[in-house]
Amino acid sequence: MGDIFIRIIKLSTPGVTVLDADGNYNVYINEDLSEKERRKVADHELEHIKQDHFYSDKPVAECEREADTKSA
Ligand SMILES: [Zn+2]
Repeated sequence: MGDIFIRIIKLSTPGVTVLDADGNYNVYINEDLSEKERRKVADHELEHIKQDHFYSDKPVAECEREADTKSA
């Protein structure tokens, strides 16, 4: 519970995080990205997890801004 799994897969977006029924975070990163871009996307997604955005009712735009500024 609360574990983080990062997987590189085919995706139509740079990255996405899915909270599963066990409370684990599944971070998916687009395999078409460069190593550097993958790292940036992973940092962004991990920041969402760190900030508890998955358990927050903050507006999405605000979460995106927080994840971008704090992972930059
Ligand atoms: Zn985001």
